[in-house]
Order: sequence, then structure tokens, then C-alpha cells
Amino acid sequence: MTVPGNKSQRLIWLHVEAPAKPLTGQACNGCGVCCAAEPCPVARVFLWLWRGACRALIWVDAEQHYRCGMLLQPSSYLFILPASWQTGFSRLVARWIAAGTVCDSDAEV
Ligand code: SF4
Ligand code: SF4
Repeated sequence: MTVPGNKSQRLIWLHVEAPAKPLTGQACNGCGVCCAAEPCPVARVFLWLWRGACRALIWVDAEQHYRCGMLLQPSSYLFILPASWQTGFSRLVARWIAAGTVCDSDAEV
């Protein structure tokens, strides 16, 4: 894949059944390309990931697409997060990553 911002090319690994990446601006289909390519700000701040695939990227077999683990089960990644804060934190992550909206990745696959 190619990341237009820095013109770099890199190899990413995705599930064989993962949907093809839509065009930028189309509805997000959970293809996983963006998160397999580089960590988002949430992953940088809370998981201290700076490059490569995000370890919170989860393949959901029943839905045949990827989901964000920091949205689904943040306490599995943030061990200091009290269980009672999980729902509220998930809501914040959904807002921060604009979950379920449009594809904002301009990567070419
Ligand atoms: S924290 Fe979630 S949205 Fe961000 S890179 Fe990881 S899996 Fe993707
Ligand atoms: S934002 Fe785009 S690249 Fe990222 S999972 Fe959604 S459709 Fe795929």
C-alpha cells in the first residue's frame, strides 16, 4: 500500500476475508487498512504505539470486518482502566476515532 502523505510504500497484513478499502469519503467498511498501516492518535496516546499495525485492531469473524479494540473492550488494552470507566471511555474513543462514519484514509492499496 502507499501512504500519499509521505509517499512511502509498506506491506500490511490483513485477513483474507477483509473487505476492500473504499474510496476516501465513502462509508467506512472496517477494512482495517488505516489501523494496519499506522496507529491513530488514540493508539499513540494510550497504547504508546508510534508505527506499524495497531495491536488493538480486531478481526470480527461474525461480521467479516475489523473493529477497534479500544472501542469494544478498552480495559483489555488499558489495564489501569477501572471496569466502571469502560463504557464512558468507549464513548470517548468512538468520538475520537469518528467510528462508524466515513473513510478518512487516503492510503492507496
Ligand atoms: S486504537 Fe483503534 S482506531 Fe486507533 S489505530 Fe488502533 S484499532 Fe485503529
Ligand atoms: S477508515 Fe477507511 S481504511 Fe480505515 S477501516 Fe474504515 S474504511 Fe478501512
